[in-house]
Amino acid sequence: MLTIQFLCPLPNGLHARPAWELKEQCSQWQSEVIFINHRQNARADAKSSLALIGTGTLFNDSCSLTITGRDEEQARRALEEYLQHRFIDSDSVQPTPAELAAHPLPRSLIRLNPDLLYGSVLAGGVGAGTLTLWQSDNLESYRAIAASAEDNTRLEHSLATLAEQLNQQLRERDGESKTILSAHLSLIQDDEFAGNIRRLMLEQHLGLGAAIVANMEQVCDKLSASGSDYLRERVSDIRDISEQLLHITWPERRPRNALVLTKPTILVAEDLTPSQFLSLDLQHLSGMILEKTGRTSHTLILARASAIPVLSGLPLAAINRYSGQHAVLDARCGVLAINPDDAVRGYYAIAQKLADECQRRQALDAAQPALTKDNQRIDVAANIGTALEAPGAFANGAEGIGLFRTEMLFMDRDSAPDEQEQFEAYQQVLLAAGDKPVIFRTMDIGGDKNIRYLNIPQEENPFLGYRAVRIYPEFAGLFRTQLRAILRAATFGNAQLMIPMVHSLDQILWVKSELQKALVALKADGLRHAPTISLGIMVEVPSVCYIIDHFCDEVDFFSIGSNDMTQYLYAVDRNNPRVSPLYNPITPSFLRMLQQIVRVAHERGKWVGICGELGGEGRYLPLLLGLGLDELSMSSPRIPAVKSQLRQLNGQACRELAMQACECRSAQEIEELLNQFAPQKDVRPLLALENIFVGESLSNKEQVIQFLCGNLGVNGRTEHPFELEEDVWQREEIVTTAVGFGVAIPHTKSQWIRHSSISIARLLQPVDWQSEMGDVELVIMLTLGADEGINHVKVFSQLARKLVNKQFRQSLFAAENAESILALLEAELTF
Ligand code: PEP
Ligand code: MG
Repeated sequence: MLTIQFLCPLPNGLHARPAWELKEQCSQWQSEVIFINHRQNARADAKSSLALIGTGTLFNDSCSLTITGRDEEQARRALEEYLQHRFIDSDSVQPTPAELAAHPLPRSLIRLNPDLLYGSVLAGGVGAGTLTLWQSDNLESYRAIAASAEDNTRLEHSLATLAEQLNQQLRERDGESKTILSAHLSLIQDDEFAGNIRRLMLEQHLGLGAAIVANMEQVCDKLSASGSDYLRERVSDIRDISEQLLHITWPERRPRNALVLTKPTILVAEDLTPSQFLSLDLQHLSGMILEKTGRTSHTLILARASAIPVLSGLPLAAINRYSGQHAVLDARCGVLAINPDDAVRGYYAIAQKLADECQRRQALDAAQPALTKDNQRIDVAANIGTALEAPGAFANGAEGIGLFRTEMLFMDRDSAPDEQEQFEAYQQVLLAAGDKPVIFRTMDIGGDKNIRYLNIPQEENPFLGYRAVRIYPEFAGLFRTQLRAILRAATFGNAQLMIPMVHSLDQILWVKSELQKALVALKADGLRHAPTISLGIMVEVPSVCYIIDHFCDEVDFFSIGSNDMTQYLYAVDRNNPRVSPLYNPITPSFLRMLQQIVRVAHERGKWVGICGELGGEGRYLPLLLGLGLDELSMSSPRIPAVKSQLRQLNGQACRELAMQACECRSAQEIEELLNQFAPQKDVRPLLALENIFVGESLSNKEQVIQFLCGNLGVNGRTEHPFELEEDVWQREEIVTTAVGFGVAIPHTKSQWIRHSSISIARLLQPVDWQSEMGDVELVIMLTLGADEGINHVKVFSQLARKLVNKQFRQSLFAAENAESILALLEAELTF
């Protein structure tokens, strides 16, 4: 037996992709190869990627491979070379813009040894609940289907169709998905599996549906009783392929949804349709893990609107085994913490407290207009999908509804809402809005928003197909009903009308004639309605940009649908995760296009907003402001943060930035430009009350550093609390910062602090500072800017010298509150 010792070099741990590659490397050899994680005390067959993922291996974990067999010497040499030189490359996935913004894992969490699975962030936030698999089907109903003479032929046909579908997917997929698909394929080709279904039909006279369900149960029972984790995990595979067989055999029985949530839940699914999402009780939905969804899919858009965090990139097969267990979904860091212990729960309790405080402060100013430092104004509005979201949007500070996706009203039901139902929903939004504008986008049906009762046949490329304004002539009655409902509701507020997916003048001229007809008809019917309505189009098909001047003659405003515009401008499917690295609106071509639209529209006195997801992305705010957009419309939970960020910006500096960005040659150059772009700094004192805490309940060193760095984030002294924390910890590693007398002075000079700060925590009870200098009750943390010119060694030594003075120390310990600590320090320290 030969052994290779190594430290896991993967910053993101042994997730699906590196596990698959390592398995491929190991499988080339006849020898048995066992992977051992010494921190976790976990062993795995290195020729199974699922088993490798199951070891929960993190960055820097001490690991080994043991190799036993005839070719062990050759295998050791090759694997050693692989681990040393190439293993690390398997971790690198080309980051998408959203991932660029994702945070590194904070050390205060990692040091607690949490059991983590790594994914990528689709919608931010943190949520805790029970991991629950989306069971799309109630299989009981299949038992009742009567046996028929064709059952045997149908079974063969369904097995062949499923095999064909799996083979097709296998050709299209790679990595972990390929492993799982191959496993499924070998299961349905296994004689035992199909043979048992045939036997059940023959010997027990079951119908095909009942036989598939019974076979599934028998195999699952056997597997569940197995002592092997690997075999137990196969239960979900068996369920999966059995369900697929049933769906292929009886496509008409496929249910729309089947899950009732009764407690905080993290839902795990391949993907959900918008209507399946809308059927859930969101009160109990704490988070979602979706395996196959695009960054701007409508399900995700709905999730963001409800502040539900979402991760992807976690193979369902790896999560299935945790079904029913408690977990925290952390979509700030892109991890799922399984069965968190008290320490990990403590970490998340503090993270929650900090997030709540941040939100509370932003909410205080949310109602104020968003003015930049040099008094440039930009409207910040909300995107909503249902009337119910409107009051929350205005409470978050929305200055209007920039996009009401009215098609949501048509989903998750069996027939279209009638005029009165629509009128009431639209009226409800206008009443909540008062005199603020509400843009009603007429139904954008099609694409990923299929509506069964319209019976539009399935298409090969639904996003390039029959959707939005293109279907209106066929469904003219439906469109007219909607126009009538909007025009009637418009008497209750400031309503505007917006048409999706317009690409030619003909389309808008047709819409205008329909609008005229609706107005005439309403008058004839004697119904109260608005005599006119402001009309706009979504700019989401690239051809529009070349004739925006002509559109200016016909419409009142434009709103850029960056979600669709991105996919159409580059021909990159917005819902296909395989091309998601290419799905990036922040490129020179996209920015130049925005620049041109705004210029032409402004020259003709028309306003331009943006209502795609890009509109709410904080990182790109300086660019959007600089390009001269008049309105940003976004999911409403984003509004307070965006407004507060806008107040830090200087309009003139942003205009210069946008001009430079349009001249960049690549997306990367733009990102670098943004990295260098620093919002104007106001002057903040080194010592301030906002960073002093007396009696805060913090129970270990990790919590103290997490809390003090996080608090600097809340106070806007750093935009990068996790990176700052990392710098503090690195200093801790060199030599302890406990200085005796119950005091510690953690300190760093860091590029991640915007305003140099001294933070203080006088603790309720002493904590172990993991140092020979004893426990610590008073923590004075120095975080000084790399470019501040303040010599942090001098500050540190001055403080340390003062603390030797017993009287000074005692007065710090005895001070009644934060104010008196501040006064003491201000009197004693000279910087
Ligand atoms: C868009 O395309 O950017 C948009 C706002 O519309 P939707 O996401 O509903 O297609
Ligand atoms: Mg769109």
